[in-house]
Amino acid sequence: MLVIVTGVSGTGKTTLGTLLAERLRLPFFDADHFHPAENIAKMSAGHPLNDEDRQPWLQALADQLLTSEQKGGAVLACSALKNWYREKLSVSDNLRWIHLTGSRDLIWERMLARKNHYMKAGMLDSQIAVWEKPQTGFLLDITGAPEQLLEASLHYLTSQPMNMKMGVIGMGVMGKSLALNLAEKGVPVSLYNRFVAGKEEGIAKKVLDENPEFSNMLAFEDLQQFVNSLEKPRRILMMIPAGAAIDAQLDALIPILEKDDLVIDGGNSFYLDSDRRVNRLKEVGMHFLPMGVSGGEEGARKGPSIMPGGNAEGYAMVEDFLGRISAKDKDGKPCMTYVGPGGSGHFIKMVHNSIEYGEMQVLAELVHLLRFGFGCSAEQVSGIFSDWGKGELKSFLSEITADLLLFKENGELLLDKILDQAGQKGTGAWSLTTALEFGIPYSPLAEAVNARGVSGEKAMRVAFSKTFQHEFQQVEGSLEAWLPKIKEAYGLARIINHEVGFRLMKTVSDTKGWNLNFNEIARIWTNGCIIRSGLMETISANYSDQVSFFEMAGVKEQVISGRKALAELVGLGLTHGFALPVMSAGINYLLGRITAESSASVIQAQRDYFGAHTYQRKDDPSGKFYHSQWI
Ligand code: NAP
Repeated sequence: MLVIVTGVSGTGKTTLGTLLAERLRLPFFDADHFHPAENIAKMSAGHPLNDEDRQPWLQALADQLLTSEQKGGAVLACSALKNWYREKLSVSDNLRWIHLTGSRDLIWERMLARKNHYMKAGMLDSQIAVWEKPQTGFLLDITGAPEQLLEASLHYLTSQPMNMKMGVIGMGVMGKSLALNLAEKGVPVSLYNRFVAGKEEGIAKKVLDENPEFSNMLAFEDLQQFVNSLEKPRRILMMIPAGAAIDAQLDALIPILEKDDLVIDGGNSFYLDSDRRVNRLKEVGMHFLPMGVSGGEEGARKGPSIMPGGNAEGYAMVEDFLGRISAKDKDGKPCMTYVGPGGSGHFIKMVHNSIEYGEMQVLAELVHLLRFGFGCSAEQVSGIFSDWGKGELKSFLSEITADLLLFKENGELLLDKILDQAGQKGTGAWSLTTALEFGIPYSPLAEAVNARGVSGEKAMRVAFSKTFQHEFQQVEGSLEAWLPKIKEAYGLARIINHEVGFRLMKTVSDTKGWNLNFNEIARIWTNGCIIRSGLMETISANYSDQVSFFEMAGVKEQVISGRKALAELVGLGLTHGFALPVMSAGINYLLGRITAESSASVIQAQRDYFGAHTYQRKDDPSGKFYHSQWI
């Protein structure tokens, strides 16, 4: 935003301009410092400047304003007494004028009160005579203290459109980081956080104060003023909790927005809610983007993976900005793509998180088994993961696990002081219920959610461990002999986790006609997001609708070679007292899916036996249903 404070000498434009610059976190310029040397010489010799003399001065000011606008804005104090001076300085739609006015007597009284007063009354009178009343901007009477004039000016400025390019609602962990990321990438951004009585005030303003290096941000606690500050059509990103908060925020926004405005929900909303909201905003002529964001606080600040879906016209309004703030893949392309219609962006984020649950749980199972079954120190386990991370098993989650295994507090491993109760929010459980609804086997990833549930029952676990005398048993064999198998088992468990998630995504995409592009989805997950990994690079390069996931190049060989290793490792762990829910479910799932003759004949016979549910026969390819009199 550019602000010019005008007025004859003595109206206090420098004082007000400086105060405004401080509050808006913008640089301040005094127009008197932009005169060329010839003008200074002329004025020093006591000769007044004419309009011709003022031309280069005004040009220098206009140039400065344009440069400042690119950097986020500025406040300029300038007499600008005539209309044509002001026209010359009107370089941008982002420019706001504050014109200081007052009675001649009041101005003269203030001039007399100045320490370095040098002006003659005649000079003031000639300035007042030259002054042309402005047609646009805010005419501000100078009666009152500078602080009062400051508040009146701020009130005026915040009630005017300031053409900020984006607005972010919710200055929590993610909203704040994304807003700073936008500001850093040159996108002028308005920040808004609600005020709840009895809670902290000025949350958005605090973000401004803590980040003085960004001058292209404005902070609001009034939703109308926040909306007013945005360029039309407006672009608003909500980073607030999923569920009722989103609907309530939309209820508040929709009446004060206009046709063609865009609202983005960057939180972890349930995709069916997002489907509904896309339609809700469409009905009122607005755009809605349900958008997955992954990468946590650091990712949001430095480069997340971004998964926008929904209204394609709305996407076009923010493609450039989202591309700027997202992580980049190995070829430098943004880890951001238009995912598809409706709630598809939130849907793939939900599955992403579900895979994340599975990946975290497998690592947790291995850490435990290696430490308490094989007797490895935390440092050794960290070293094993670091070593694997140099090759095809590299992943963000294994990197951070290797790191946290080295983290000490007062010389002791912090990990061992962390209570073993893991929580979960919506996305893991929603994936599971969605898989059930679409009839997709989901046991490995479902077990990751269940494992957190079991972990939550700490008191019961402690009591039962005594009742049933549970203890981990040391593995007899050597770690060296087991390590290659553990590595293979880990690789395969990860493949299974990903296969399960991608299968759910493919099924839902086909059923809903979304036509999702899975090479592209995997590509935007190769960086910035929590499940970025070497495996994701392989999936991005080799995924094909023509071949099953397990038969994909770079995967099939590992399914063949890792099968025995995973089964052996799970057997070893279970017999030595280790719960390995995701790895065991993984090998069960895989074996189930590659078994030609399954045990389901028994189930069908049982169903027909007790409930006359009928069955089909292997020796009758017609598919006819039979019923037998079992007794
Ligand atoms: P957070 O730190 O808890 O911040 C939540 C923000 O929403 C706060 O500014 C809060 O304001 C505001 N808020 C809460 N209830 C509200 C309501 N009813 N109306 C308006 N504003 C409300 O949460 P976060 O971690 O930034 O997460 C925001 C969204 O991003 C969530 O959907 C989350 O699931 C998703 N997400 C989070 C991560 C992550 O790693 N944290 C990653 C990806 C996605 P007050 O201060 O006034 O309460």
